[in-house]
Amino acid sequence: AVKVPVKPQADLKGKLKEVFGYGQFRGVQEDIIHNVIEGNNTFVIMPTGAGKSLCYQLPALVLPGTAIVISPLIALMKNQVDQLNAFGVNAQFLNSTLSKSEMNKVKKDVISGEVKLLYVAPESLTKDETIEFLNKATISFVAIDEAHCISEWGHDFRPEYRKIRSIIDGLGVQVPVIALTATATPKVQQDIQKNLQMDDASVFKTSFNRTNLYYEVRPKHNTKKQLIHYVKQHKGQAGIVYCLSRKKVEEIAELLKVNDVRALPYHAGLDPHVRMANQDAFLNEDCDVIVATIAFGMGIDKPDVRFVVHYDTPKSIEGYYQETGRGGRDGMEGDCLMFYSYDDIVKLEKFNKDKPVTERDNSKLLLQEMANYADSAVCRRKQLLHYFGEHFEKDCGFCDNCKHPKERFEAKEEVLLALKAVVQTEERFGLDHIGTVLMGMRNPHVDSYGHDSLPIYGEGKQHDAQFWHSLLRQSLLNGFLEKDIENFGVIKISQKGLDFIENPHSIKLTKDHNYEEEVKEEQE
Ligand code: ADP
Ligand code: ZN
Repeated sequence: AVKVPVKPQADLKGKLKEVFGYGQFRGVQEDIIHNVIEGNNTFVIMPTGAGKSLCYQLPALVLPGTAIVISPLIALMKNQVDQLNAFGVNAQFLNSTLSKSEMNKVKKDVISGEVKLLYVAPESLTKDETIEFLNKATISFVAIDEAHCISEWGHDFRPEYRKIRSIIDGLGVQVPVIALTATATPKVQQDIQKNLQMDDASVFKTSFNRTNLYYEVRPKHNTKKQLIHYVKQHKGQAGIVYCLSRKKVEEIAELLKVNDVRALPYHAGLDPHVRMANQDAFLNEDCDVIVATIAFGMGIDKPDVRFVVHYDTPKSIEGYYQETGRGGRDGMEGDCLMFYSYDDIVKLEKFNKDKPVTERDNSKLLLQEMANYADSAVCRRKQLLHYFGEHFEKDCGFCDNCKHPKERFEAKEEVLLALKAVVQTEERFGLDHIGTVLMGMRNPHVDSYGHDSLPIYGEGKQHDAQFWHSLLRQSLLNGFLEKDIENFGVIKISQKGLDFIENPHSIKLTKDHNYEEEVKEEQE
C-alpha cells in the first residue's frame, strides 16, 4: 500500500452534522474516532445499536486514502454501502456478487483515490489479485467488523478471519486497525487481540446492560398454547418469534395467523421477493409479529419491537443476547421470553456431530452455558453480564428470577468447602472435577493426582453434582472464584475468595430450577 500523508485537522462535529445529519456524538464515539484518526490501533466492544459503524465511517471521511472495511455478511455490506451512498459518501464493496468488469471499476476508483470506504468480504480479501490491488492503493486504516469471527471460542467462527493479520502485514506500510464487535466474552476478547497482534490497542468497552429489557425463561410445556396467550397479551405490538428451523417457522407463523395474529414467516428458504416483502411488512407495521430463523434481524433497525420470543432454546448466550437485543431499541420496555427444554439442548448437540472436533467441543460448551443460564434461579441480568465479563453487584429486580425469587438457603459452610476444594486442588481444574472431589467420588483424575488424600475429599458428600455445580457457578458470579482465561474451563480463586476463607460470612444462595417439578405443581 501507499503511505498515507499527514494527518488532517478536521472539524469532526461539523462533518457529523454535514454528512450524517447528527447533532451529537453518542457515548464514547468521539474518543474512538480521535483514536483512529491519530493512527492508533483501536478495539471497540459495544452492544448492537450503540453506533459502532460511525466509529470507522467518520474517520474514513476525514483521512486521506481509502478505509478497508472487512465485514462477513454480503447483505449487510450492501445495506451499509447504500446508506453511505445516500449520504453522498463514496463507498463501494468488493465481493463475489460483482462481475469481473464491475470489480475492475471498483479497483480503479479505489486506486484513483475517490473511494473513502471499501467493504470487502473476508474470502475476497485472501485472493492474490485482491492483495496485489491493495498494494497499489492508499489505505487509511483497516476496520474489522464482527471481530469475534476471529475466535474459535466465539459463536460465529470464520476461518478466513484468521488470515487478516498476515494480509495487513503484507501491505508493506503500517496501517492502523480498528476491530469492532458486539459480543465478546473475556476469552474471545483476548483471542481477538492476540490474533490481530494488537495488544497495544486502546480498548473501548461499554456496558452491555440493557436496562429496559425484561428477561424470562419458561419450561417448554404446552408451548403453543402459552405462545398464543402471550402474543395476545401483546396485541397490536411488534414482536419477533425466533425458531430454530424453517419448518418450525412456517408452522408457528401459521398457528398465529389462524389465531388472528398478524404474523408472517421469515427464513432463508423463502423466495427472496416474499422474504423482502415480509420484512417490509414488519417494518411498515402491516404485520405485527415476524416468525423467523436467526437469519432475521441482522442490520435491521426497527426501534419499537416490544417483545422477542425464543420458541426454541438458542445455541449460545451470545446469539440469544444479540437477538433479544433487537427488542426495545427505542428505550421503552422490551419483553424477552425464552422457552427452554433440555431436549432442545440434546437435539442441538446432535446437529453438531459432523463438525470438526474443536468446533464441536466449543459448540457443546456454548450449549452447556445456555442450559446453565436457563436452569439457574439467579438474577438473569447478573448472569448475562457476567458472561460478557461485567460484574453486576445487585440483583436487577427486572427479570423472572428477581420477580419470583426462589427460596434462598444459607450457604456459608458449602461455599467455604467449595473454595477450599479449589485451593487444595491447586487451581488447575474445572467445575466437574471440583464437584467430584467434594463428593468423594472416584475418576481417573482423582486417582492420578491423589486427590482422595486431600483433607477436602468427600467433605461435601451430602450434596449431589447438580448442587455443587450450581454452587460453584454462583461462587463465580459472586466473584469468589474466577475463570482462568488462559486455560479454558479451569477455575481459580480470587482475592475475594481468599478473604472469604479467612473470614467466612453469611451468604444466601438459591438452588437451580427444577422445571419438571414446577410444571407439575402448576398443574395441581
Ligand atoms: P452498531 O453497529 O453498534 O450495531 P449502528 O452503527 O448500526 O450500531 O448504529 C445504530 C443506529 O444509531 C443507526 O441507525 C445509526 O444511524 C444511529 N447513530 C449512530 N451514531 C449516532 C449519533 N451520533 N447520533 C444519532 N444516531 C446515531
Ligand atoms: Zn434480575
